[in-house]
Amino acid sequence: MAEPEGEAGATPPEATTNYPEAGTPKVRLQPPGVAFSIEGWSVAGIETWLRIPEFSLAIDVGRVAAPALASRHMALTHGHLDHAGGLPAWLGLRRMSAMPPARVYLPAEMVAELSTILAAWERLQGVAFEVELFPARPGDRFSLGSGRSLVALPAHHRVPALGWAVVERRAKLLPELLGKSGPEIRALRTAGHVVARHEEVTLLAISGDTLASAVDEAPALRDAQVVLHEVTLLDERHPPGLAHAGYHTHLHDLRQSEVAAAAGCFVPYHISQRYSVAESRALLEAELAPRFGERLLPLLPTHDLPSRRRGATKRSAATSCCERRDGC
Ligand SMILES: [Zn+2]
Repeated sequence: MAEPEGEAGATPPEATTNYPEAGTPKVRLQPPGVAFSIEGWSVAGIETWLRIPEFSLAIDVGRVAAPALASRHMALTHGHLDHAGGLPAWLGLRRMSAMPPARVYLPAEMVAELSTILAAWERLQGVAFEVELFPARPGDRFSLGSGRSLVALPAHHRVPALGWAVVERRAKLLPELLGKSGPEIRALRTAGHVVARHEEVTLLAISGDTLASAVDEAPALRDAQVVLHEVTLLDERHPPGLAHAGYHTHLHDLRQSEVAAAAGCFVPYHISQRYSVAESRALLEAELAPRFGERLLPLLPTHDLPSRRRGATKRSAATSCCERRDGC
């Protein structure tokens, strides 16, 4: 069940950890015009972890990544190993660094299985993790502090899954009071008059692993200042039907999707290792740069993985997880 929204107080500063960051591959994106950044690493089937330091929020933890240890909030999109397999290590390393208890938000259907896994690992470790699990369903909200909330979005994947949005509540002076001085407005407020209305701004939305149709039920994936959307396969060598078999998005799906009408920055992520970094960038830019221009910020690795069959079209044990319906 979601906790009541509107928890008072500012987001506390992030704790530090003694786990070395050196050696953790990551990229950092600074979308233009927003006051937060995105760190992370994402390759379909291998590993996805993301972090928004300004919100003390991590999203997914395929393998534990040192920068993500600092985040107090962890939003999981689903239980596939490349998205959630690093959770026990993330919790263990946080405990070793005496960090505050973690808050993990996750699809409600995952809670029983994940609780069993964590309890087993606590027995193996001989210590208890410092963690609270918050089961979520689409529409549920959780406070991140500082007037911000985490909102669960629907996703359509092969296993129970969610997207997530971060919304911020802002006070806006009533139009009829524009031009009045600060003391005048304070006096009106003291006298009991309403001087402002509140509005909610969607700062960020992330699709999680999903078919592109999720946006039909989750307009945040169109309206957010920054939209992160999974795009697993990119061209006709690996056609849309292959992506859909694994309940993933193909780049060509975005031609019909409302996501393409996003007014903010667009961050494609979760690209298959079948494509080199240079090839991924070229395909994404050819399709999306005409619409997004400078607002297109692909989250791509800094280097190619040593894939044996990059670009292959036939079945391959290394790269056909969509066809074989392996979790990714
Ligand atoms: Zn998946």
